[in-house]
Amino acid sequence: MSRVLIAGGAGFLGSHLTDALIEKGYEVVVLDNLSSGLRTNLSSVESRIEFFNDDVAKFDYPKRLDVIVNLASRASRMEWETFPVEVALTNSIGNNNLIKLAIRKEALYLYASSSEVYGKAKVIPTPEEYIGKTSTVGSRSPYDEGKRFGETLVKAYERELGLRGIIMRIFNTYGPRMRGGDTYGRVIDRFIMQALEGKAITVYGDGSQTRSFTYVSDTVGAILSLIENGSEGEIYNIGNDEEKKIIEVANLVKSISYSKSSIKYLPLPPDDPSRRSADASKLRKLGWSPKIDLENGIRRTLNYYAETLNIADHFMRKG
Ligand code: UDP
Repeated sequence: MSRVLIAGGAGFLGSHLTDALIEKGYEVVVLDNLSSGLRTNLSSVESRIEFFNDDVAKFDYPKRLDVIVNLASRASRMEWETFPVEVALTNSIGNNNLIKLAIRKEALYLYASSSEVYGKAKVIPTPEEYIGKTSTVGSRSPYDEGKRFGETLVKAYERELGLRGIIMRIFNTYGPRMRGGDTYGRVIDRFIMQALEGKAITVYGDGSQTRSFTYVSDTVGAILSLIENGSEGEIYNIGNDEEKKIIEVANLVKSISYSKSSIKYLPLPPDDPSRRSADASKLRKLGWSPKIDLENGIRRTLNYYAETLNIADHFMRKG
């Protein structure tokens, strides 16, 4: 059976991917320095994985590896602002070390890039061929430019040393285990937490900016498709083309949670892309399509947070 190393495997996306691979009978090795991941995310598979609390920039592994999935990086704007050096180096030096490991093991290397590489895209939905433009020095740059350089490194090693690479440009993903709060929070999880705690829902700008959101099990399904059927040397968008305005998301969270929270408008952070939507035709050709729509996904995520916070009875109308 194939052995897969997941860098960042204790994080939000990584831990769901670990669960899915174990379920499918893969051997899974998790590498995570727990900077933003949580060991508890792996509690249901703990006895069935090999776990290393180590730095991606230094990690080595003595045994056979068939696939390496590099998901290691802090992935929220607040973290890029608080830990800019770490984010930039994880995607360059850390990525470099894991690429070299993949070459030594002759393993397939899936690099988690991001829709961020498209910047403020002018073609919506955005296909893989679109050449993005981002700020090299703005507050998002450690991540945006980190991911762009990460892609460059994958392509360089493919050309020069025969790396078997696949670049995944992952669009906004949400669901259980994404950490909320002011350090880690991404929009859906923040809105859900705010609604559950009866706090004002913080919409940045006028809320007319859009994102297309993919529920975590669908993103994991896409990564599985790429591990099993992706073409080496290719780039794949992972996401869908259903654009939602952020104000619509706020209202949806409010109505699904029966929350009485007000909506508070705050200034739009710098360089915040105004529209984002994935053209994932290439991935769909492999047979992938998203299964969970936004309403259903928010419901599932809400139930998870309500259980975690143990405040289900507080807010949800019964029956
Ligand atoms: N956003 C918001 N309120 C929040 C957090 C985020 O209005 O409390 C907006 C943010 O400005 C952006 C969108 O939601 O336009 C998605 O933000 P997120 O940080 O989840 O992802 P990214 O900006 O990286 O796509």
